[in-house]
This record gives sequence, C-alpha cells and structure tokens, in this order.
Amino acid sequence: MLSSKLRQPIVVVLGHVDHGKTTLLDKIRGTALVKKEPGEMTQEVGASFVPSSVIEKLAEPLKNIIPIKLDIPGLLFIDTPGHELFSNLRRRGGSVADIAILVVDIVEGFQKQTIESVEILKERKVPFLVAANKIDRIPGWKVYDNEPFLFSFKKQSISVQKKLDELLYNNLVLQLASLNFNADRFDRVTDFTRNIAIIPVSGKTGEGIPELLAMLAGLTQRFMQGKLKFVEGPAKGVILEVKEDPGLGHTIDVIIYDGILKKNDIIILGGVNGTIVTKVRSLLLPSPLQDMRIAKTGYRSVDEVSAAAGVKISAPNLEEALAGSPIYSVDSDDKIPEFKKIIEDEISKVRFSRGVT
Ligand code: GDP
Repeated sequence: MLSSKLRQPIVVVLGHVDHGKTTLLDKIRGTALVKKEPGEMTQEVGASFVPSSVIEKLAEPLKNIIPIKLDIPGLLFIDTPGHELFSNLRRRGGSVADIAILVVDIVEGFQKQTIESVEILKERKVPFLVAANKIDRIPGWKVYDNEPFLFSFKKQSISVQKKLDELLYNNLVLQLASLNFNADRFDRVTDFTRNIAIIPVSGKTGEGIPELLAMLAGLTQRFMQGKLKFVEGPAKGVILEVKEDPGLGHTIDVIIYDGILKKNDIIILGGVNGTIVTKVRSLLLPSPLQDMRIAKTGYRSVDEVSAAAGVKISAPNLEEALAGSPIYSVDSDDKIPEFKKIIEDEISKVRFSRGVT
C-alpha cells in the first residue's frame, strides 16, 4: 500500500584511502549524537541515523541561503565506507544506496580509488555529491569549529579564499569534467540535475558539515520522491554481514530498504548452498546504552522495523547465509517459491558479474 510517507534515504561514503571517509562519518555520527532530541535513537546495526531535527537545527543559520523544510525522517548512513561494502549493497536494477558522498582530499585531488568510485557509482546509477575534504589543511586556513562552510569561508583571508577555489577547480572540477561530469561549488550550482555539487568540508574540524547534510537531505527529498515513498508491505533488504555473536549464534546484519520486517516473519535469503527459508526469531538493535558510549551491553529486541533501517536478525539456519544476498519477508507461504526464484536469479547474476570483472 502506498502512503505519502517518505523513508530515510540511504547514504554511502566512497573515495580514495586516507582521504578522510572514516573521519567524516565519525564527525557526522558525533554531530547527530550531540544535537538529537532526548529519546531519539541514532545508532542502528551497520548504519547510523541522522534525524531531520538534527539537520534542520544545523541548517537553521543557513536558512537564507539553503531553505530547508524536511519531509524525510532523516538520513541513514551506512557505517562502513568504501568499495567493498558498497559492492554488497546491490538490488535489482541498481544499488540499495540512494545517494553517495564521494570524499576527495582537496589538496591531493583525484586518485586511483576516487576514479574507481566514480565508475562504480555510474555503473550502479547512484547519484553523488562531492565532499572536498581537509579544507583545514589549506595553508593559512583559520579554523572555526563546526561552522557552516560559507560562514567560515567568509572569514578567511582573500588569499586563502583564492587558494581554496583554485584547488577546487584544478583538483576536482577539471577532474570530474574529464570523466564527463559537470560540477561546481554547491553555492554556485543553479541546476542540481545537471551539475554535481561540491561541498568543501573538514571531517576534522566539522566545518561544512551543516551544508553537506542539508544538501544530502534537500536533494534526495526534492529529486527522489518516487523512490523514497514508504511502502507498508513485506520487507526487502540486503545482507551486509553474517556473524556469529556470543549467545545469539549465527546472525545476519541487514539493511531494510523497503517495507516492514516483523518478529516471526518468514524470510527468504541466499545461502552458500541455495536459498534459505527461515523465521525471524528476534530483531535486534543496539541497546540505548551504547548510544551513550557506555561499555558494550549488547542489543535490545524490537517487534518490528520499518525501512530504511539497519538491523540484526537472529533466526535458525543462518550459518550458510551469504553477505550481499537479497533478503525478503513474505506474508504467505504461497509466495515462497516465487521469491526463491527471484533470489536465485539475483545471486547468479552477482556471481556471473564477479566472474567476468
Ligand atoms: P579513510 O581511509 O578515507 O577512511 O581516511 P581516514 O578518515 O582514516 O583519514 C586519514 C587521515 O587523514 C587520518 O590521519 C585523519 O586524521 C586525517 N584526516 C581526515 N580528515 C581530515 C580533515 O578534514 N583534516 C585534516 N587535517 N586531517 C584529516
């Protein structure tokens, strides 16, 4: 059933090693933790949630420049950056990721894995923004912790401002042009359907994070309404990881990108020796105490999760589950053969494409 509700866009972070992907994600997670309303949860399994309330608060000082009123509930960031996990986020016809952040060190510019990232995003048809990272390393840069980029930029000397724009054009705009993408600094873009927005940031000082989050939320909400419509049906997801957890046995960490998954639902997923049909024993989310950075206390069990969400599933017969496999819940046994076939088809395609690339 279609409702007018929108789900949270799923965001991935890609880019060259050491360009600051992990640091940027940590900064975003930290910001969400500090700015969230009491009781709002930000930690999920394999992913972190940044509620819209946080984004609106951060974007408030920018309201004359980037007006933002959010209908999406927030953004769901996949916790593990890089190619490897991204390649496990397949779904039919593309990726589970709705949008990506391509992190590029503004001083170093495009490197081998930056180009590989652009190619893989193009192949999976995932739109992206560029985070021009490490602006605090530009010689003479004066740090204004956690400020919007535009405010901090205004307070820099003319020569530093010039240097930033020079690096941005030489190391990013021209490089993207050679890959057939038009791009510009986000505040100079007039048509976001034709130009990729580059947001200067520092994962270390937090400068530019308000604009990065505001642009991600604003653009996904504006251009992906259809894809983000929340559907109240059975769940669709992808397996991020198969684990053996103390006291829980084999479990799977899953990103649900559509529908609702409930305790006791029948689920179908891919396994090493064919499809697995089993029943959800429990749905687990990190315990709230972990959110407060207190020692690891395990998980809390919930009755259901709605897309988009990262959740740990405990169920019988998960020993042979395959990371990267699709997972579906079904609302009647009659549908099991149909979904088994869908999963077999999808997995054979993954194996085939891995075999030839
Ligand atoms: P990853 O390999 O892309 O995940 O990169 P990391 O997040 O591990 O960062 C690589 C190095 O760059 C680390 O030493 C970080 O502290 C440093 N770094 C990351 N972001 C910034 C930044 O914005 N400014 C500065 N000065 N250093 C940064």
